[in-house]
Amino acid sequence: MATTHSVIVIGAGISGLACAYALKKSGADVLLLESSPSPGGIIHSVKDGGFLFETGPQSFSATPALNALINDLALSDELVAAPPRAPRYIFVNGQLRSAPLSPPALLASSLLGWPTKLSLLREPFRKTVPPLGDESIADFVRRKFSPDLLDLLVGPFVSGIYAGNPEKLSLRAAFPQIHEAEQTAGSVIRGLKAAAKSKNPPGQKPTLVSFRNGNETLTQALSHFLGKSLRTGAHATQISRNSSNQFEITTTIDSSSAQFRSPHLVLATPAQIAASLLRQLAPAAAQALSQIEYAPVAVVSLAYRRADVAHALNGFGFLVPRAAGLRILGTVWNSSLFPNRAPQDHVLLTCFLGGATDPDTASLSNSSLIDLAHRELTPILGLKAQPVASRVTAHRQAIPQYNLGHLDRLAAIQSDIAKIPGLHLTGNYFRGPAVGACVEHGQSVAESIRINADRSEAAVSHPEKPLPGVPFWVWSAIVVLLVFTLYTSRETIHLNKQIAETTAQANAEIAKRNQLKERFALAQREAIILTDPRTVKITLTAENENLPDLKAMWHAKLGIVVAGQSVPMPQGNRTFQLWLIPKDSDARPIPSLTWRPDAEGKFLLLVANPPDAMEATKSLAITEEPAGGSQALTTKPIWVGAII
Ligand SMILES: Cc1cc2nc3c(=O)[nH]c(=O)nc-3n(C[C@H](O)[C@H](O)[C@H](O)COP(=O)(O)OP(=O)(O)OC[C@H]3O[C@@H](n4cnc5c(N)ncnc54)[C@H](O)[C@@H]3O)c2cc1C
Repeated sequence: MATTHSVIVIGAGISGLACAYALKKSGADVLLLESSPSPGGIIHSVKDGGFLFETGPQSFSATPALNALINDLALSDELVAAPPRAPRYIFVNGQLRSAPLSPPALLASSLLGWPTKLSLLREPFRKTVPPLGDESIADFVRRKFSPDLLDLLVGPFVSGIYAGNPEKLSLRAAFPQIHEAEQTAGSVIRGLKAAAKSKNPPGQKPTLVSFRNGNETLTQALSHFLGKSLRTGAHATQISRNSSNQFEITTTIDSSSAQFRSPHLVLATPAQIAASLLRQLAPAAAQALSQIEYAPVAVVSLAYRRADVAHALNGFGFLVPRAAGLRILGTVWNSSLFPNRAPQDHVLLTCFLGGATDPDTASLSNSSLIDLAHRELTPILGLKAQPVASRVTAHRQAIPQYNLGHLDRLAAIQSDIAKIPGLHLTGNYFRGPAVGACVEHGQSVAESIRINADRSEAAVSHPEKPLPGVPFWVWSAIVVLLVFTLYTSRETIHLNKQIAETTAQANAEIAKRNQLKERFALAQREAIILTDPRTVKITLTAENENLPDLKAMWHAKLGIVVAGQSVPMPQGNRTFQLWLIPKDSDARPIPSLTWRPDAEGKFLLLVANPPDAMEATKSLAITEEPAGGSQALTTKPIWVGAII
């Protein structure tokens, strides 16, 4: 016999735990099903022989949402912060070089050549427009800065967050803040500076943290709160819907089958598992989910006697550019960052191998991985003996790759699941893989379930939410660029002026040509949409008399164009977001792209691949949302237009 709950969440990683926790706190009768014997998913801490091994994340960035959750769970006293000034190293030309994380360090560093330094100096003075289509991180860095910056700094940082390939990762999906900065300000540095001003009050920098007894402290506390609402060892095998529109979930528990039933279902599993569970119910979403690639990563922790390591280990650890030819992607010096990681006179280091650029290495045997990591570390750190302890965890599907087309895949997923009222997805493939981003997404899904359950109009308007968390390495990159501008000395300004003058003509020409190219491409697309008789014209009427009406054209195959003049800039670090409001009153609004007007108030939004659902759509609406957009409406629409 099936037991019924008001919400069922499948998957007790940090995303599912955060979602279920928020639901239970709001009074919902929630059941969280987890296939493993213990909750936490990728987050797992192991104490063995006096060492504290982290088999997944080694630390995480203390975002406001995560801090709030930690406070709520009364875990603040357990928190340990990494030394904020711990240097990060890059392995270049056979040695560890301090990664330049401040403007003076960047200028002084011999890591980067003058062409790169000049490209950074010039950036705030050049107005550029990002291409209309998706752009890879590698193309972005080469277009705006230099190949050296990509190879020596950005590439290793990207592999530190995504274990990814910068030639394939989408800038817009993986680092929306950077894309948005160029989009709105024409300069990444100026845009990030403006965004940071409106986002982080002075002195509130995200810190890199862990817990005294390991990262698992967080997932254990969430599980403890959930109590009997968490069922481990329950492997969901099938999902269907019954005649009362409730979800029927079949699970295997202790080799027997058990059924659960609920009007709301949250899938908080990796994308591939969600794809297999949704194959019957939402085939289009399943198809898009299955296209999200994951990079495999092997986590290899090695412990040594302190006396057997020549290097001072005075820092966070090091990252390895691919050109260095090592298999190690990076190494964290755990015992230099947090207390309780190793017994007295010992050190603990954790290496990452594999990733999107070297996937086969993650499948090596444990002993080969230990040998490989030890062999590569030996000359770098001056190791004099074999490790005294080790631990290997190979994650075959470790980190989702926000590759080119990722936002289109997410839009296709959202559009398909919006047709099934009560169905929700969360996980690390939505807002970033960082723990903080998973917590925020899980909480936002819980919130949208609460709103749906309330079904009250007022519930649509909520207090402003914090922006999605910025992973630590992005933050470092942002800080480099931001502080760089702030510290710019008079001499540098003078130098900038000279450079700007001598290069102004060429830059202006390039910018003009780029703009013309962009405009031409957009105009071509607009013209096709405008002239095709199958195009539907929609007036988006402003709810507020101070705002102008917008015009929209929708062609189910070619795209949606929304345009307007004299549109005021949204307040703070917010953007306009376009929504497709379904005819089915039970279905949720489908989120589409976000945009901001340009400096002259010209608003032009082009959705290249609209969901093929014009017939099922009642109207278009535009709301103001946090930068990067939301999965569910957080404010009342300010423009609405019916599709007739
Ligand atoms: C090696 C590594 C290092 C990382 N380092 C960092 C870092 O330093 N900082 C940082 O912020 N982030 C880091 N991350 C990213 C972060 O840890 C993850 O993105 C995050 O923990 C993912 O959480 P999740 O809940 O979305 O997914 P998961 O942790 O994968 O949880 C999904 C859960 O679903 C369960 N499940 C699957 N199928 C079923 C089923 N059929 N029925 C029931 N349950 C099911 C699984 O058992 C699992 O518990 C790292 C990730 C990896 C792999």
